[in-house]
Amino acid sequence: MDIRNCSRCGRLYHYDGFRICPTCRREDEADFTKVKEYLYKNPGADISEVEKETEVEASKIIEFLRQGRLEVAEDSNLVLECEICGTSIRTGRFCDKCASDLQKELSLSIKGTGKKPVQREKERFRVIDRYEKRR
Ligand SMILES: [Zn+2]
Ligand SMILES: [Zn+2]
Repeated sequence: MDIRNCSRCGRLYHYDGFRICPTCRREDEADFTKVKEYLYKNPGADISEVEKETEVEASKIIEFLRQGRLEVAEDSNLVLECEICGTSIRTGRFCDKCASDLQKELSLSIKGTGKKPVQREKERFRVIDRYEKRR
């Protein structure tokens, strides 16, 4: 059994893959619903207004946006910035351009670290194989 302290409220809970306990998660869910509904009715609201009206902390609202769970309406004053280039984005952490750049870099580094050793290993086997056959 994996018992941990909730990283938010400090209570003990059965760890099930989340950093916070089920109680805090339920609170988050309720906050999320409040924010979503408020934004649905007031698409032009900015973060401080949403914070005041829903009593959900701005940092949590931003967290919802970063997670991609909330998307900002086209004409909204809620603005997020791409973590790399600072372009304003509507959801997530990066703009489309940086996200695809990141994707490319990621697949390159996977190729770089993963494939080469495997190939070398294969080659070595082939050499040994031939050598043994000749004997
Ligand atoms: Zn908790
Ligand atoms: Zn960017």
